[in-house]
Amino acid sequence: MQLKKITSHIYYSEPEKKTDRPILGYIVGDKRAVMVDAGNSKAHYEAYLKLLEEYELPMPEVCVITHWHWDHTFGIHALRQESLAHMKTNQKLREMSLWDWTDSAMKERLQQGIEIPFADTCMREEYENVNDIRVIPATTDIQDQTELDCGGITCQCIHLPSAHSDDSIVVYVPEEKVVFIGDIYGNDLYHDSKRDLEKTKSLYKRLKILDFEIAVPGHSEPLSKDELLSFLGQFIKDR
Ligand SMILES: [Zn+2]
Repeated sequence: MQLKKITSHIYYSEPEKKTDRPILGYIVGDKRAVMVDAGNSKAHYEAYLKLLEEYELPMPEVCVITHWHWDHTFGIHALRQESLAHMKTNQKLREMSLWDWTDSAMKERLQQGIEIPFADTCMREEYENVNDIRVIPATTDIQDQTELDCGGITCQCIHLPSAHSDDSIVVYVPEEKVVFIGDIYGNDLYHDSKRDLEKTKSLYKRLKILDFEIAVPGHSEPLSKDELLSFLGQFIKDR
């Protein structure tokens, strides 16, 4: 895992396929830094902190969560900073915080269709012992939008429609024209990988009017606004 620099104020740690570790974002201004997503485990979060140390970057004061999926949230319990998440994200995390994390409980959730095989397989890759999984909600709820002033750099945390997950938040940095989008443009993995076209269309419209040049997704290289819109556009007939 390496730290990649996008602009003088924005970095991200690379994703890892095997254990489905997503990109973790880093935005720094004159006053403070912000982290995007908490990682899929304490180990993932700590690997990210180590990269920041190597680059002598200040510790983030806040972590913003893009959506509830395990790979973006199971590191929350280890965070040394406060965390923000959409109210629906926290609702789901509160529900999951009551679940048992044992081999048999996980198998049962798979059988009931509560969990998906892809997540189950990757969790077992990330965690040597699944009993180590800890799920807690973020410290603060976001409703539709909130703004974090980093000093000369702003993080606008905006709730946007998404076929991937209804609780999606993007972190938009207008000064740098960069937006962290998590998995917002993906299919709904928890409903047979279907895609709701109305939600896709609403997302397309919202992103089209947002003034950005680079989008940083959860699991792949950053892409341009044109690339992102043409990807989403293929699902929309009347745009
Ligand atoms: Zn996701």
